[in-house]
Amino acid sequence: MDEQFDAVVVGMGPGGEVASSRLLAAGRRVAVVERELIGGECGYWACIPSKTLIRSPEVRAEARQAAGVSVPTVDWPELRAYRDKMIRHLDDSRQVTGYEEQGATVVKGTARLVGRDPWRVAAGDRTLTAGHVIVATGSAAVRPPVDGLDRVPVWTNREATTLREIPSRAVLVGGSAVGVELGQFLARMGCAVTLVQRGPRLVRREEPRVGELVAGHLRADGIDVRTGCQLAAVRRDDAETVVDLDDGTSVRTDVVVLGAGREARTGGLGLAELGIETGGRGELPIDGQGRVTDDGLWAVGDVTGVAMFTHVAQYQGRVVADTILGKDRTADYTGVPRVVFADPEIAAVGLTSAQAQARGLDLATAEVDLPTVLARPWTYQTEPAGTLGLLADRGRGVLVGAWAVAPLAAEWIHQAGLAIRAGIPLTTLLDGVAQFPTFSQGYLNALEALSL
Ligand SMILES: Cc1cc2nc3c(=O)[nH]c(=O)nc-3n(C[C@H](O)[C@H](O)[C@H](O)COP(=O)(O)OP(=O)(O)OC[C@H]3O[C@@H](n4cnc5c(N)ncnc54)[C@H](O)[C@@H]3O)c2cc1C
Repeated sequence: MDEQFDAVVVGMGPGGEVASSRLLAAGRRVAVVERELIGGECGYWACIPSKTLIRSPEVRAEARQAAGVSVPTVDWPELRAYRDKMIRHLDDSRQVTGYEEQGATVVKGTARLVGRDPWRVAAGDRTLTAGHVIVATGSAAVRPPVDGLDRVPVWTNREATTLREIPSRAVLVGGSAVGVELGQFLARMGCAVTLVQRGPRLVRREEPRVGELVAGHLRADGIDVRTGCQLAAVRRDDAETVVDLDDGTSVRTDVVVLGAGREARTGGLGLAELGIETGGRGELPIDGQGRVTDDGLWAVGDVTGVAMFTHVAQYQGRVVADTILGKDRTADYTGVPRVVFADPEIAAVGLTSAQAQARGLDLATAEVDLPTVLARPWTYQTEPAGTLGLLADRGRGVLVGAWAVAPLAAEWIHQAGLAIRAGIPLTTLLDGVAQFPTFSQGYLNALEALSL
């Protein structure tokens, strides 16, 4: 017999969690379906374990840069145990109870859409019927079609973030967030890391200058950064794994770690059978409210292909839930931050110069070396580094982009994000006063360096 709900949420990562909690708080009858763990990729195999792992070697690196501090050691079994605690030992039973206490029907199983008008979702031996279905099934690591990859030890983000031992050697495939963060972590834990990036620079979606700076920092950590080449084949040579690159060189390794992109998890959901088309990368295209169709199918998070970040999934969860609840909301992605939690942090917001030029903006740009203009980098570390870049639209007299490769940039990029989102006039920003001595003061220097 079908069970009736106002909404069924498929997938309980951050997007599904926010959407369902909001609907539950408003008194709606909600069923949530999760085939693995409530908390999703983010909670167990992505954001939480990676940021937890990164922090301890980062503290040790910071200690090397603080006058008069003896350098602490990183105790791997203790760090590993804390990581295990942070990922709840891959146990979501408290989350299940928590949602049940909020009034949700929690179904553990793989969901498949089996009917439309009304929407019907099959999961395990249950069939759930609802006026609204929110697809929040996230994304999975792409496996590049490289000959031999299935015959050697390969880690996706899942094995990498739940690792038990630090490998002696690793080849990281992909120079974006996953490759940079995990590559730096492994290198700092004593692993010989080779980072292979197909394109000419790292963090390719950001300003070229960001990629240059990041490559320098990673090389300083001992990482062998190889840009402009890709894996040609992977093979075994006795007990060893050998990665052949298309520039003719080979790298011997213990493991190949994949960070070469992610694809939306829409396979097996039964979408095509119900006449619902996915995009070229399997994603579910949505409108400004998160609608996939006009008759009650919605999507949030990585599966939408908008921007693969937890804060975007959560934002879309708020927009979809509020729209279902009758509020007038439209998602606006202006000024949403993009951070790579490397050391120093890589943070960006708004447009890159290529995007601004493609829009035909009359662009003014500035870049400041923070130790040259500020006191804070010097009070913060003995050999300071940090760069901030700004992009302004001369026509509108507002900021349109900002980027930084600097300590704590993930925190202070939000000022630029707010300025861009709110369209705060440059004249107002130029009259701003930031606390001395902080990295935030660098905004004034960069604003003054814009040739307006
Ligand atoms: C290594 C790594 C580090 C990252 N670090 C950050 C970071 O620091 N900050 C940040 O903002 N983002 C980070 N991300 C990205 C972030 O993890 C994702 O953007 C986020 O998890 C997306 O949330 P989601 O709700 O869309 O999907 P997910 O978290 O992927 O959750 C989707 C859920 O749906 C379930 N599911 C799938 N199919 C079905 C089905 N048919 N039936 C039932 N359940 C199903 C899955 O089991 C899963 O639990 C990182 C990603 C990686 C890989």
